[in-house]
Parts: sequence; C-alpha cells; structure tokens
Amino acid sequence: MLDPAWLLLLLPLAAISGWFAARQDQHLRSRNRGADIPSDYFKGLNLLLNEQPDKAIEVFIKVLEVDTETVETHLMLGNLFRRRGEIERATRIHQNLIARPKLNRYQRSQALFELAQDYLKAGLLDRAENLLLEYAEVEKDPEPALSQLLYVYQQEKEWDQAIATANRLARASGNSTDQMIAHFLCEQAEEEIAKQNTEQALKLLKHALSKDPASVRANILRGHIARDNGDCKKSIHYWKKIETQDRRYLPEVLDQLSECFKETGNQDGWLDFLNSALKKERAIPIMLKFVDEIESQQGIQAARQFIIQELRQKPSLHGLSRLIHLSAMQESGQSRSDLETLQAMIERVLKSRKTYLCEHCGFRGTAMHWQCPGCKRWNTVKPVWDEIDE
Ligand SMILES: [Zn+2]
Repeated sequence: MLDPAWLLLLLPLAAISGWFAARQDQHLRSRNRGADIPSDYFKGLNLLLNEQPDKAIEVFIKVLEVDTETVETHLMLGNLFRRRGEIERATRIHQNLIARPKLNRYQRSQALFELAQDYLKAGLLDRAENLLLEYAEVEKDPEPALSQLLYVYQQEKEWDQAIATANRLARASGNSTDQMIAHFLCEQAEEEIAKQNTEQALKLLKHALSKDPASVRANILRGHIARDNGDCKKSIHYWKKIETQDRRYLPEVLDQLSECFKETGNQDGWLDFLNSALKKERAIPIMLKFVDEIESQQGIQAARQFIIQELRQKPSLHGLSRLIHLSAMQESGQSRSDLETLQAMIERVLKSRKTYLCEHCGFRGTAMHWQCPGCKRWNTVKPVWDEIDE
C-alpha cells in the first residue's frame, strides 16, 4: 500500500504533467502564445508543504486539466485514496471528474462507478444506488453495477428489487441466481409470517421451491407454519424432505420433529425415521436422539450399552457427555456428584464451540445464518456437529 505522502506527491506531478500536455497542445495551435506554470500550482505546492493536504488537493484538482490523458490519473488517485480509507478525498476527486463537461461517455461512466464505490464504502447506499442504476442503464456490460446493486438491496432488505436485479444479473452474466432468489423469497415469507399472513407466506415459499427445489429453508418454514396451524402431520411431511435435500440441516428441526411425531402419537414413525437416518449416516445429533428413545423405552443400562458401542465406532465429546450423564444417574453420593461435575465441564466446552462453518470463507459461528455474515454468500454456512466433535 502506498504511503499517503506519496499519494499527495502524485497529485502535483499529475497537475504539472496535465498542464504541460495542455501547453504542448496549445503550442501546436498557436506558436505565438506562451504559457506559464499556473500560479495555482505553486499555491497548491505551498499548501502541501505547509501540511494542509486537503486544501492542496482542492487546488491541484482545480488546476489539473481533465482530458483523455489525465482522467486516468484522477481515477487512479481517487481509488488509491479510497483503498486507504480516505473516502472524503476519493469522493471529492470523483465528483470533480464527473462535473467536467469534457469527459467522453466511457470516462463518465467509469467515474460514476468509482463514485458509487466511494458512497458504498461510506455507507451512503441511496446515493450509490442511483449512480449504479445509471451505470447499469448505459453500459454494455452492466454486470459489476448489478452485483453492487444486489448488495445494496440486500442491505436495505428491499427484496422485490433484489429479485429483479438478481434476474437481470443472471441474464447479463449467464450464471444462475435462482438459489439466491429462493432466499430472497424466504426472507419475504418470514416477513409475512411475522405479520401472520400465512397464505401469502406459503405462496412465497412455493415460489422459492420452484426456483430452488433444494431449498431446505423453504421446507423448514413450511413446517413451522403447519405446526403453528396445529397440523403436525404436515410439519413432519415438510421436515422429512430435508433428509433428501441436505441432511446436514436436519439438526435444525430435530427437536420439533420429535415433538410432532409424539403429538401425533406416531412413536413408531419417529423410531423408523431415526433408524433410517442413522443407516445413511451416523450423525451425532441423530444418534443422541436415538439414545433418548432407548433410554425411555428400555432404560438407562440399554442406553449406556448403545452409546458405548457408538463411541467405539465414532468417538465424540457429545457422546461422552451423554454417557457420563447416564452413568451419573446410576450412581449416588460422591460418585454421582463427581460425574455430574465432569459432565458440566464437558458441556461448557461444547457450548463454546462454533457449530456452524461457512464453506466459502471459513466463518465460524454459534448460530445458523442463511447468509454468511463474513462473505455475504447465501447457503454456504452449514452445521458441522460431527467435524468439531471428532
Ligand atoms: Zn462466508
């Protein structure tokens, strides 16, 4: 990264070279007319030497001729300032550039795009939006502006505009944005659920699944709506679909699924579900639910034996914690108290562990996010119980 002092030195150099180019041009047109270094240049240099860089920049920008030669210099300087976090300076340079009537169409839209980046960095999303819309309208390749607009609309939770922009982006880039659009529709559905408009929410979720049939989120929400309406059978129907969509998300609904099977009196169905899920993959959350069932139906000893077998095949802290819990229940006095202390310590360690991981940027968290807080991608954060427990 360039030092700011170097950046400031570039400005008078650009100004004087711009002046020199202009002078050469003038000289060719009229050999009789001389041109001197403008007094503003010395004024700017003086301000710079007196450590008044902001005033110096104003003066240099004024003296710097904007033509095909110097537009690039302006853009470069503006970008360097922005990258250094000096957003006000970058903005002034880009605003000044746009105000110049000599810019051709390409240069003007470049300057518009750069100014939009300044506004984005400054958090002035409305201003950035207007410039990006203008850029996307006039440019042959609107893809960079559409990507930025998509970011703006997501930040502002303007989901209709986000969907329209994602559709435009898909047409411009040739890459599908359907998975992202399904999440936007789920966001809208959640807003409708909060307003108790379940009919509208269900329509949006159906639309989300038509865009992305693998949308686990849409089925989780459909299950919650059904349960709130007292229809546990429907909830089970929707939540069971997660197993074929992406079974890593099953732990997100396992507690509610267990309750629904019990509320509908379908204990056998719950055991069948756990058995079939365990056959596909010995995932720790499923295994722990199975232990609950053995304990309630066959007693503590049977549950202990099952978990010991499981731990031999797949050692895990969650499994060990449950084994200690079951063992404590069979003890009394000091032994029981010691085991309970040990289990509480393991549980503390487990609670502090980050059970969600973004497959794209490596962000780790303790709560589920459909949009990664780190890289802002959708659908990249996955529950990783097994990975962290090995
Ligand atoms: Zn990420």
